[in-house]
Parts: sequence; structure tokens; C-alpha cells
Amino acid sequence: MEKYSSADNWFDGQGLWSDVPREDWLKWGWQLRNRITSVEKLQEYIELTEDELEGCNYANNKLALSITPYFFNLMDREDPNCPVRKQIIPRAGEKSITPEEMLDPVGEDSSSPVKGIVHRYPDRVLFLVTDRCASYCRYCTRSRLVSNAQDYNFHPDFEAGLEYIERTPSIRDVLLSGGDPLLLTERKLDYLLGRLKAIPHVQFVRIGSRIPVFLPQRITPKLCDIFKKHGPIWMSIHVNHAKECTVELKEACTRLAYAGVPLGNQSVLLKDINDDVDAMKQLVHKLLMMRVRPYYLYQCDLITGSSHLRADVRKGIEIIRKLRGHTTGYGVPQFVIDAPGGGGKIPVNPEYVKEITDSEIILNNFQGKEYRYPLVAGKPINNQDWNQFSPDEVLV
Ligand SMILES: *Cc1c(COP(=O)(O)O)cnc(C)c1O
Ligand code: SF4
Repeated sequence: MEKYSSADNWFDGQGLWSDVPREDWLKWGWQLRNRITSVEKLQEYIELTEDELEGCNYANNKLALSITPYFFNLMDREDPNCPVRKQIIPRAGEKSITPEEMLDPVGEDSSSPVKGIVHRYPDRVLFLVTDRCASYCRYCTRSRLVSNAQDYNFHPDFEAGLEYIERTPSIRDVLLSGGDPLLLTERKLDYLLGRLKAIPHVQFVRIGSRIPVFLPQRITPKLCDIFKKHGPIWMSIHVNHAKECTVELKEACTRLAYAGVPLGNQSVLLKDINDDVDAMKQLVHKLLMMRVRPYYLYQCDLITGSSHLRADVRKGIEIIRKLRGHTTGYGVPQFVIDAPGGGGKIPVNPEYVKEITDSEIILNNFQGKEYRYPLVAGKPINNQDWNQFSPDEVLV
């Protein structure tokens, strides 16, 4: 065990499934086969609240219910307010739609030149390679297509996507997402990453995945070898709360890091789950201990049926204000709003610039103290006048 793990509380163990042989538990196949995907199954393991039961009965109209045994164990079965539980067990709130909500909140479908590709920024594309995930997050921005509960029938056209990237030389960065790209078979991932690597203008590939969090067993040495072979590959994982930082996730991150995969994290700001500074500080500290650099903190997109999970934007700003300067700079993510309708990610920052005058910028530091800095360099102090005198030009 590494130095820091024992110093803190890192969950390890099989919980409700402690009678399952360790070698089965550690197999991703076992975890996937034993996912909890029905209300009946769920009720065998947990007593649902009325609110949850109503949400679970509706889930198949919106976004399927699915929880790996591994992730289920991170939930507090006694506490309906558990931050893990709220991410993964549907609630009645999913049935209500508020006026600002949309099926495709960040306008992905309208910037999609080919099925599966979203080309919004000039030099990079998002490549959606599947609609499946190991478990489903109740606030998923792609609820319209992920899990196929809404009969979207998403089937990426891999060849058309690759051809689009091949014939678009401005694309230097390809971001694989979905659904979860790490649910593709090793054979398929190996082939896809090989094809991408062969495109001269593609400088590197990124993978956005919550598999390390839902199913760390999937990060096998074989999978890591594929990443090593086709690197540079960057990865963004998706952790929202310190409770998700387990020994198994930590070990999966270690395997990825040792395969040369730099790790970032994307969190979604969620109401009464992680929208306070203490929760977020604990999370970013644990991420850094796992070699994961917090990348983005997202304001939750305006997805239909998400009002019960969307936090107040001002809380996000306040969290960043209380992190910046108060803890390791590496631990401070960029808070962003993915603009409704398709404007892309817009950074939202606490204000540190108090005023810009004709000559200076007036700043507040992390403690609120005021500092000034000149806008442009001043004129050199003129020493010329003194050069006409010799140092010994004195009368005595
Ligand atoms: C988030 C996103 C990207 C990647 O954005 P970065 O800021 O470079 O991480 C690319 N394309 C789309 C459509 C995105 O939503
Ligand atoms: S893992 Fe990502 S794509 Fe899958 S349900 Fe969660 S947020 Fe959506």
C-alpha cells in the first residue's frame, strides 16, 4: 500500500457481496453481469423511499437504471441523502420538467456533421462511440441517447466518423466519449485508437470515461497496454464526491498513470451532493492523491428532469473562491457553464479584478486584500544627466 492511503479513509471491500469470491469480484465481467437494473432487484438490497420508488418506476422512460455492485457499495443504505445514492438512484423529480430544460441542452445534435461526431470547436471533435455506460448518472447531459431509454437508437457510424476526421485537417484532438468508450471491447478500442493514431494531423486522443469510477476492474493491464501502445492518450474521469475515491479507483488510476495516461477529472456541481466547499475540498485532495488533476467543474446542464439536482450557480463560484489560494493550485478546477443551445464551455470565475484604471489594475487577493499592478511598463529612469559629471567632481 502506498504511503498516503492508510492516512485517510479509502473504502475497500465487497460490502453486501462479501461472500462473492475475490477473484469474481475483481472481474469486470462479473460486475457487469451482476448490475442492478430493475426496481425489484434494487429493493432486494435497499429500502427505497417513496420519492426514489416513484423515480425508479419512471426511469425506463428517461434513462435506464443500472448500478454495478462495486458502486452500489459506496452508497449509504440508511441515508437517502447520501451523495452517492443521489447520483445513481432515480427520484420523482425526474418526472417534472421546468421551462428552461431541454432534451439536448448543449445543442450537440445541431453541430453533428456525421452520426457520432460533434464538431463545435475548430481544432477538436467529440466522437461519441457508444450509448452504453456501466451505471447511469441521473443528471446525464446525454440522457436523450444514453441507455436508449428514449428510443433514440444511437449507433455511431465509425467509418464515417473516421473519414470525417481524416478529411478535416484542422482536427488535431479527438475526444472519445459516449456513453462510455471503455465499454468497447479491447479489440474494437485497439482498432479505433490505431486508426486515429494513423491520421497525421491527429496529435493525440482523449477519452472521457466514468468506468474507473463505476467499474475500476475494467482498467486491466491489457487495456493499459493498449493505451500505452497508442499514446499519447489523455483521460478525463468523472468523480463527484470523495466517497467515490476508493482503494480500487486509486489502484486503477495508478495503472493508468503508469501506462502514461495523464488523468484529469470532470465533476458536475450537484445540489446537496457536492455543492459546498468542504465536500469539494475533500474531493480535490483525494483526486490529487490519486494523481488526478481536477479539470472542469460543470454547472449541471439544463437536461429534462434535472431541476432537483441542479445547484445554484453562485455556489459554484463561491466554491472556487474558497479553493483558489486556500489549497493547492493543482486542485482547483475550472468552473464552466456549457452554454445552452450550443455556445460551448464558458468559464465562470470569482472576480479578482476590482478595477482597471488608466494606469493600473486593482486586484483583490484570495484573502480579499487589495493590490495594484501597473498596466504598462514605466519609462526608464534617466541616468543620462548624471553621466556628464565625474564621480570626483568635488571641490575638496
Ligand atoms: C467539451 C467539449 C470538447 C472539449 O473541450 P475542452 O475544453 O478542450 O476540454 C470538445 N468538443 C465538444 C463538443 C465538447 O463539448
Ligand atoms: S457516465 Fe457519463 S455518459 Fe454515462 S450516464 Fe454518467 S454522465 Fe452520462
